[in-house]
Amino acid sequence: MSKNLIFLGAPGAGKGTQADLICSHYKIPHISTGDIIRQALKTGTELGKQAKGYIEKGLLVPDELVIDIIKERIIKEDCKDGFVLDGFPRTIAQAEALDNMGVKIDKVLNFHVEDSDIIKRMSGRRVCDKCGSTFHIEFNPSENGEMCDKCTGTLIQRKDDKPEIVKDRLDVYHKETEPLIDYYEKQNMLFTINGNADINEITKEAIAIIEA
Ligand code: AMP
Repeated sequence: MSKNLIFLGAPGAGKGTQADLICSHYKIPHISTGDIIRQALKTGTELGKQAKGYIEKGLLVPDELVIDIIKERIIKEDCKDGFVLDGFPRTIAQAEALDNMGVKIDKVLNFHVEDSDIIKRMSGRRVCDKCGSTFHIEFNPSENGEMCDKCTGTLIQRKDDKPEIVKDRLDVYHKETEPLIDYYEKQNMLFTINGNADINEITKEAIAIIEA
């Protein structure tokens, strides 16, 4: 059974955390456009330079840039048994471009969390400045306190997780990304999960959906 999956949800809904868990369970790659762009920013590549202004303001980077990233990534050998797309597609144009890439998507898992809970959660989210792993000071803390327990990096708050930017990112989500719920529902591909449950319960539910 192939596992070509899309994880959908507002910023901070837990897509990245669940993608990490599901990908290590099935040994398939976790493809996060946000991580790829942040890495490009860090290393100062052309992609990083083009994306910088958008990411810092909480806006979406232009469709062409992310479509090209995904087009190159999903044809790689390690994607042959499946992959999780985390944070892509984020617009209808991106979803249509994905449809035209010739890779069949099996299921779309939509992690639902109310805006008020997202705002509360984002203030506690921390990421490793080295490997990009995501933690939460209350719900998913690192065993090493302010250091990453997967590598030796330091846990920091992303600039775009500051409250004023989070509000803008939520607006962008409702306007640009939420229409994808309807897009995939119409194709009978959408499965919605309550993203407010316990992390391990959510993973169990996700696996049950993937296996069904
Ligand atoms: P994320 O880590 O998924 O929350 O993404 C962080 C930021 O990267 C977003 O606020 C956007 O600026 C940019 N980004 C990531 N994925 C996409 C995408 N599919 N389309 C446009 N911009 C994206």
